[in-house]
Amino acid sequence: MKTRRFRSTATSPGIAIGKIYRLHNRGAAFMRTWIREQDVDGEILRFRTAIQKSKEQLSHIQAKMCRFQGDDQIKILESHRMFLQDDMFVAATITHVSESMINAEWALDKTLAHLKLSFLNVDEEYFRERLQDIDYVGRRVMNNLMGSPEMPLSELPAGEIILVAHDISPCEVAGIPRDRVRGFVMEGGGETSHSAIISRALEIPALFGLKGIVEQVSDDEIAVVDGMKGLLIASPHKRELEQYRTVQEKYVALERILLQDIDLPAETKDGHRIRIDANMELVEELPSIDEHGAEGVGLYRTEYLFLNRLDEPSEEEQLANYIEVLTALDPRPVTIRTIDLGGDKISPSHSYESQTNPALGLRAIRLCLRELPMFKVQLRALLRASMHGNLRILLPMISSMEELTRVKRVISDVKRELTTKKIAYNPDVPVGIMIEVPAAAIMSPELALECDFFSIGTNDLIQYSLAIDRGNELVSDLYNPFHPAVLRMIRMTVDAAKKAKIPVAVCGELAGEPLAVTLMVAMGLDSISMNPISIPRIKKLLRAITQRQSKTLLRDVLKLKTAGEVENLLRKRTSHLLPGEVRQLDILGGQEEKVNV
Ligand code: PEP
Ligand code: MG
Repeated sequence: MKTRRFRSTATSPGIAIGKIYRLHNRGAAFMRTWIREQDVDGEILRFRTAIQKSKEQLSHIQAKMCRFQGDDQIKILESHRMFLQDDMFVAATITHVSESMINAEWALDKTLAHLKLSFLNVDEEYFRERLQDIDYVGRRVMNNLMGSPEMPLSELPAGEIILVAHDISPCEVAGIPRDRVRGFVMEGGGETSHSAIISRALEIPALFGLKGIVEQVSDDEIAVVDGMKGLLIASPHKRELEQYRTVQEKYVALERILLQDIDLPAETKDGHRIRIDANMELVEELPSIDEHGAEGVGLYRTEYLFLNRLDEPSEEEQLANYIEVLTALDPRPVTIRTIDLGGDKISPSHSYESQTNPALGLRAIRLCLRELPMFKVQLRALLRASMHGNLRILLPMISSMEELTRVKRVISDVKRELTTKKIAYNPDVPVGIMIEVPAAAIMSPELALECDFFSIGTNDLIQYSLAIDRGNELVSDLYNPFHPAVLRMIRMTVDAAKKAKIPVAVCGELAGEPLAVTLMVAMGLDSISMNPISIPRIKKLLRAITQRQSKTLLRDVLKLKTAGEVENLLRKRTSHLLPGEVRQLDILGGQEEKVNV
């Protein structure tokens, strides 16, 4: 086959070589078509067949589940099967097909939308359970209508695979079998979408935002993912493939060199210390956190405990998980963030994806304050776990003083409950907030007086301040951390923290961005928390600069008016500071000639 090259956002570094495997249906948009009178029966038959198939699949899952799952899960599946017999669902879709003369997928989508809407006014818990059923069952029937049903990623064939998909959710990415999947290419998503963050955590070279790629490559075709240049090469020429194998070896060797220095302190040449922590999503990442020399965990995204399952994790289950992380790192600090569900992280047990604008909707702390029993279970587990290590609790998406006051009240209630029951906890566990909404950055002087630390979530701060959906590939070119407005907000937040004498960190992806290190040093951040794979590079860079130089650079940067100017100046004034082998390793990112092939 002829060699083809596709360019996109480099999402996760490294070189992957393997055979393409396409996941057809995931996240694919369905077709909306008008049909002719004579096609109505055929369309209804297609829908009925999809329903039948869905029923069979659910029976099969239920039969398999009986052996090792509890009653609750079985009851949920039973209610899903009942739903497939429900007239409001089946008959309504058939009516849409025959009366509106539309294809089955479109009719099904209409039914689902109507059903969700009609449940919005029902008693809260009941409506939540029904919404969840609607999503689960609706998705299954839609997949069956559109062709082959979704295959769990754990069942991917053996071999070295380059996985190509329309869009897959962060929790599915977390389940990617690393023994087989060498590289990952997705049509949707931006560099700081949660699926992208997970692919970096799993150290899988990845490219996101390659629109139309599923249809432009073939299964079993040999391909290279160049995670530095942001390039997919399908059917590369033999010579180019060989060259890439050499680049791959070189990359691995240079990574090894970087790892040799991980125990050196994270300090500038003139002795300024900044703590380097790791972000984590799954306990499986603990070994990687140690291997890459993290001084602590700056962000544990606990919402991943809630994804990929039908029920919520119990207090005991969460407690065991938090203790595992705390003891693994003890005495190093571990910042555990409370549930940040919503946006692109949808849990089956809290499926609010019917929201038109989920990033601006019931997400993170808003969801927790609405779902107090769930939030209290987590807080109880966290407080109990505080006896087992150096815990800090972090609250996501705080956007006002009232919100913080409400959360603090809930924490006090939970503490009081524990005291009454004589259950041990650390009463002084620090509670900090994410600064990731512009309102919080602006209110940072006041908020700083009411909490123990700040952690700046640049991924969302950029999304919300520049009004750019971080997961939308159509606007990913506009998503830029070096926008002067973003830098000013970070600066404002750091200054407020300093004034209130509370520690301040950055835990968004900017923390692992080599070009930003000088700025973060100059601003006076106490710590930066990043994907473990970024730590060795950032540490190396940190050890090559001085705080004095950084401050001069920050002063110049803050005078600039555009992101482009900022980036150019940083590149110009930072690249020469780096040792040659690190420069070769693409440490400053973003340029075409990064790896010479
Ligand atoms: C952020 O928004 O920068 C952040 C760290 O949180 P998340 O990426 O989980 O939204
Ligand atoms: Mg965030």
